[in-house]
Amino acid sequence: MYGRTLVGIVIVALLAACAESPTPLESETETTTAPVESIEWKLVMSWPKNLPGLATSAERLAQRISDMSNKRLVVKVYGAGEYVGAFQVFDAVSSGTAEMGHAAAYYWRGKAPIFAVFGTVPFGMTAQETNSWLYYGGGLELWREAYAPFNLIPFPAGNSGVQMAGWFNKEINSLADIQGLKMRIPGLGGDVFQRAGGVAVQLPGNELYTSLQTGVIDATEWVGPYNDLAFGLHDIAKYYYYPGWQEPNAVLELMVNKEAYAALPSDLQHIVEVAARATNQDALDEFTARNMASLSTMMAEHGVELRRLPDDVLATYREHARDVLDELATVDDLSARVVASYKAFQATVSDWHDLAEEAYFDVRQPAPAP
Ligand code: CA
Repeated sequence: MYGRTLVGIVIVALLAACAESPTPLESETETTTAPVESIEWKLVMSWPKNLPGLATSAERLAQRISDMSNKRLVVKVYGAGEYVGAFQVFDAVSSGTAEMGHAAAYYWRGKAPIFAVFGTVPFGMTAQETNSWLYYGGGLELWREAYAPFNLIPFPAGNSGVQMAGWFNKEINSLADIQGLKMRIPGLGGDVFQRAGGVAVQLPGNELYTSLQTGVIDATEWVGPYNDLAFGLHDIAKYYYYPGWQEPNAVLELMVNKEAYAALPSDLQHIVEVAARATNQDALDEFTARNMASLSTMMAEHGVELRRLPDDVLATYREHARDVLDELATVDDLSARVVASYKAFQATVSDWHDLAEEAYFDVRQPAPAP
């Protein structure tokens, strides 16, 4: 089948590109001492193995842990469906079936609705702002509190940056065009889409191509050009819309089983933490580096047509997004505290970024001629 073959070719090409990941500095003296003891852990993912940006981040994370620990802690990585299904990662790590998982927190909001905020918030903060909230604004402490009853310790471990709004086979010119439209769109963005008249469908990434091809869904969002090219979505959808209002960043999470983590000596715990933090930055750097080239390929070689969502559609989504977040704050005490913390941080960092990033973007290039 042409589509499948092309997907295969694209994945192979992207895997070749992935091999060009940053080369670590060579140490002058190799440490080849045999490890005193070797602990073996399983890491289960919500992504297919080798998927650029997502799975490769988890795979590099595992490699970093192994390298930094001189193989005292070795992590074997399983793609979605290899050990547990894409949407079983949370339960698998919670129960100790696997010691680690790599996924996105909004997949688990059936456990507690507030988890969605630790994945992304529609019209919320960017990757840079979210990382600031998590590491320096109390966000990570709240996330750990939220996951504690489930026997899990979360770590930020990758970020997509601002995503694309998704793939459509018809143009979206007004709200009328999304009425009844079945779109794969997870998390709070799905709630917003639903309120605006669409039908939000939850599907893992590896089911998108077939679901869109066979009409199970009419449209889908996934991540951004670098990641979407690997799934071949350009084969089966014509219009690629921006901006990614539904995911202005997506935190990829490393979750670790609490008892397994507690049983590690403190230096290995520190290695896990530092490897996660390195991976968190590395993934964002890679997406930022590769997205535009992937988009150019889609447009030049696959006839993808780029479209911007109309302002009135975005304005409606923005209103619903505010309501969705306010309602989430009423679920329980923790939800109230998480939403309050998130909103306060976003307000402050927005004030700063008006003067910094946004003001700078405005002056970086001359305004277009009137
Ligand atoms: Ca997405």
